[in-house]
Amino acid sequence: MGRSFVGKGVREQVLSSQTSEIDADSLMRALLVPSPVGGVYARTGLFETVIEGLAFFISRHRDPGTEVLRFPPVMSRTQLERSGYLHSFPHLLGSVSCLKGSEATIRAVVDQPDWVEKLSATELVLSPAACYPVYPMAAARGPIPPGGLVFDVASDCFRHESTSEIGRFQSFRMREFVCLGTPQQVLDFRSRWLLLGQRLAKQLGLEHQIAPASDPFFGRGGRLAAMSQLEQSLKFELLVAIRSEEEPTACMSFNCHRDHFSAVWNLTTENGDKAHTGCVAFGMDRLALALFKTHGLDLKKWPAGVRKNLSI
Ligand code: ATP
Ligand code: ZN
Ligand code: MG
Repeated sequence: MGRSFVGKGVREQVLSSQTSEIDADSLMRALLVPSPVGGVYARTGLFETVIEGLAFFISRHRDPGTEVLRFPPVMSRTQLERSGYLHSFPHLLGSVSCLKGSEATIRAVVDQPDWVEKLSATELVLSPAACYPVYPMAAARGPIPPGGLVFDVASDCFRHESTSEIGRFQSFRMREFVCLGTPQQVLDFRSRWLLLGQRLAKQLGLEHQIAPASDPFFGRGGRLAAMSQLEQSLKFELLVAIRSEEEPTACMSFNCHRDHFSAVWNLTTENGDKAHTGCVAFGMDRLALALFKTHGLDLKKWPAGVRKNLSI
């Protein structure tokens, strides 16, 4: 499937706001306050108004019967290891380390300039995506019921990204709908969300493209994994021009994991077959940036329909 532009009709409505010239620096300066660390920002009230609107907008599209779970920004290290993350994306992983020992030991360590060398790992890592904790949690409940399961999850995520261009954060927010069920149920879920995701973007006045994609697997072996993911059409992204038209930014992804997580966690359907899983992920911070890039910094000048959809 090649890249094709959709949503042009909305673009025409949106042109009245005449704001797509805002450059990346001005956009960032108006919405986010930098910290000493690249890709980590304080978010302004203006930015958060749109994030909250987006969260509510996405909630309104939740399927009936969906179970809502909000995860903290940390998760079990063992669970992430078992999920295969360490081998596929070791370069992106952040783990939580602490000082251990008696009061005297810790006091002596913090007085040294090399105190960081004395940190030791805990049982926690920083969540790199919102959906990882769902699979072991669902597996612990027993076989998946005949209708399948859908979860609505979210968490702050961390990735040790090597660059910090606009839209590439180290710390960002991810919202996901996750489906567990038969291979057909998951395929249907993904196809439906591929269309719904585009409809949502259109309702937000975002000009976008859908493109096949692969995950940023580590190293030379990773290139093979990425190729196989592309060949099997396991991942699509909804791209919006935030940084540039030439290099549009992934604001949503639509993923099929096949039986990857059920092999790890022994997730089965009622007749004992291995389940399949899939997810649709919304990059909340990127979607907010895409909205400001498209409609400008003055919310009052945004198209009425977009403001209504976001309740702002
Ligand atoms: P990219 O292609 O930009 O590296 P990805 O393929 O690694 O992203 P996913 O793993 O599919 O991204 O994550 C789901 C969604 O989370 C992405 O579509 C994007 O909107 C958002 N996201 C991923 N990485 C970042 C990041 N570093 N900063 C902000 N948002 C991100
Ligand atoms: Zn996911
Ligand atoms: Mg990608």
